[in-house]
Amino acid sequence: MVAQAGGIQNTVEASHKDLIETKQALSALQAEMAETRQLLNEDALTGTLNRRGLDQTLSREIARTQRDAGTLSIGMLDLDFFKKVNDNYGHEAGDQMLVHFSTLIKSVMRKSDALVRYGGEEFTLILPDTDARGAQFVLARLQQVMGKSPLNYEGKEINTTFSAGIATLRHDENAYALLRRADEALYSAKNSGRNLIKLSN
Ligand code: GH3
Ligand code: MG
Ligand code: MG
Repeated sequence: MVAQAGGIQNTVEASHKDLIETKQALSALQAEMAETRQLLNEDALTGTLNRRGLDQTLSREIARTQRDAGTLSIGMLDLDFFKKVNDNYGHEAGDQMLVHFSTLIKSVMRKSDALVRYGGEEFTLILPDTDARGAQFVLARLQQVMGKSPLNYEGKEINTTFSAGIATLRHDENAYALLRRADEALYSAKNSGRNLIKLSN
């Protein structure tokens, strides 16, 4: 009887141990999955969000803005003559310029803003609770910072500028239409000579 009770005790302890181990394995797996999810939404070079991350973040922010009858602006930013950086200094310098640019953008944005690498040398800045004037202010500040912060690459200072288009969410507008207006404003900035910030009309 005593021996049998001891046996049961051992079995209970063993399954308790199993349960703890299973729980630990499960939480490790959950952490890994969260990390994978984050990596899937991230751009490997700059650590900003990628296009996938943009879809999720922008639709969430648009829904929030419409629910709260708030304001939301986005900026579409594109480095000027970036191809020349690659051509003159090499692809590695170009890569470093992209990291440098995203770091400068992060230095002027708020915690609640989101930065996305839209593709190549084009970034989207999502600015919740920000009207067109506020967005213009942030990007003008970035222009100033850029002017004073060349990239140091192998002892050389590489200067660059960016062009930007700003669009502020209209009533009932969707992400696609908002992005398109920002893109059109960016085109207008490029066509007007670059190193410019244009508002969508
Ligand atoms: P614009 O002022 O009209 O925007 O001219 P641009 O030279 O910046 O634009 P263009 O579209 O002609 O060239 C973009 C270049 O960006 C070409 C492409 O090789 C480069 N590029 C895209 N992605 C990367 C990247 O991840 N790393 C590097 N180094 N270059 C990239
Ligand atoms: Mg460009
Ligand atoms: Mg481009």
